[in-house]
Amino acid sequence: MLGLYLHVPFCSAICNYCNFNRGLFDAELKARYVEALISEIARSGEAVLKGGATMAGADTIYFGGGTPSLLEPEEIHRIIRACEASFDIAADREVTLEANPESVSEPRLRGFRDAGVNRLSVGVQSFREDELRRLSRLHSADRARAAIDDARAAGFDNVSLDLMMWLPGQNVGQWLESVDRAIAIAPEHLSLYMLEVYPNAPLREEMARARWSQAPDDDAAEMYGEAMARLEAAGLEQYEISNVARRGRRSRHNLKYWTDGEWLGFGPGAHSTREGVRWKNTSSTEEYIDRVRAGAALAVDLRRLTPDERLGDALFTALRLVDGIDGNAIQTRYGVDVWRRYGADLEPFIEAGCLRRDGARLSLTRQGMLVAHEIMTVFV
Ligand code: SF4
Repeated sequence: MLGLYLHVPFCSAICNYCNFNRGLFDAELKARYVEALISEIARSGEAVLKGGATMAGADTIYFGGGTPSLLEPEEIHRIIRACEASFDIAADREVTLEANPESVSEPRLRGFRDAGVNRLSVGVQSFREDELRRLSRLHSADRARAAIDDARAAGFDNVSLDLMMWLPGQNVGQWLESVDRAIAIAPEHLSLYMLEVYPNAPLREEMARARWSQAPDDDAAEMYGEAMARLEAAGLEQYEISNVARRGRRSRHNLKYWTDGEWLGFGPGAHSTREGVRWKNTSSTEEYIDRVRAGAALAVDLRRLTPDERLGDALFTALRLVDGIDGNAIQTRYGVDVWRRYGADLEPFIEAGCLRRDGARLSLTRQGMLVAHEIMTVFV
C-alpha cells in the first residue's frame, strides 16, 4: 500500500531555526496552490487509468509542511476527495494533519475531522514560554495545552505531539519539564527531535548575540535517555529513534519511510519513491503551480536507484527502528547476507555497546541511537 504525502508550503511566520521548504502565508497564493495540488493528484490518477492499470492502493494520507492547519477544512476536504478519486484508499486509512497550536480552534479542528482527518500531529516544541520565544514560535505554552484540549473536544482520539530538545540555554531539568507536561496530557504519540542549528539559521546569530549555547553532549545524552525512560514508564513505547507511541498508535505513514515502503509526494518539494525510482518535485511554489497549469513535468530530480542504493536505504532506515534490521527479510528481498557483507565494519559498534546482534537481527542500543548517523554510514 502506498502512503500519500501532501506538502503545504505556508507558515504564518518563519521560525528562526527552520530549514524546511516553506514560505509566508499568502491567501491568494494558497488558493492557487490548492487548485494545483488537486490537479497534480488527479493527474497522477489519470496516468494510472490511461495505462490500463488498476487504481493504486493507499492507506495513509499525510498533510505535512509548513503549516497544513492554515488550510481551511473545506480545502482539506477537497484534497482528500481528490485522493479518493485517484487512489483506492483503504477503509481503515490513517489521515494525519500537522497543526500548529496558534492556527487551530475547536470549530476548525471539528471541520478537519469532518473532512476526513483522523490523526493530528501538533507542533508544540516546548511547554516553556522562554524556550518558545527563543525559537520565535508564535504560540504560548498555554495555547499548546489548549490546542490539545480542543482536539479532544473535536473528537480526535489519535494525537501526536512534537517536542524539541537541546534548545539554546536549555538544561536537563528544563527539558524534562516539557516531557512531564507532555506526559500529563496523555497523547497517543510523541516525536522528540534534537535541535540542529544550521549554519545560516537566524537562530545561530541570535545565540551568539545573547550568549546562549546548547548544553554539553553528555547533558544531551541525559536529556534523551531520561526522556525515553519517563515516556516508557508512562506507557509510551519507543519504536524509532525519535518516536514513541501507545500500543497500536505508531505512525503508519512514517513507518513506510522506515520499512522500505513506497510513497507518493504531492506539492512543491515533495519526494516520492516507487518501484525503485525516486523523485522530487520542484521546490518553488510559484514554479510548481505554473508547471501543473502547463501540464509540464514536476520532477526536478528523478532517478532509478541501483540495487546497492536500494539495499543501503533499506538498511539505513530500518536501523532507525527499535526492532532494527531483520536480516532474514533483507536476504529474501535483496539476496544479501547483511552480516557477511557488513559484519567487519559493524563489529566495532557491537563491541562499543552501540549495536546489538540477536540472530539475524541487528538493532541499536539506546546509547547507539545517539551515534546512529555514524553507524548508518556503514550502509551508504
Ligand atoms: S512552523 Fe514549522 S515549517 Fe513553519 S517556519 Fe516554523 S518550523 Fe518551519
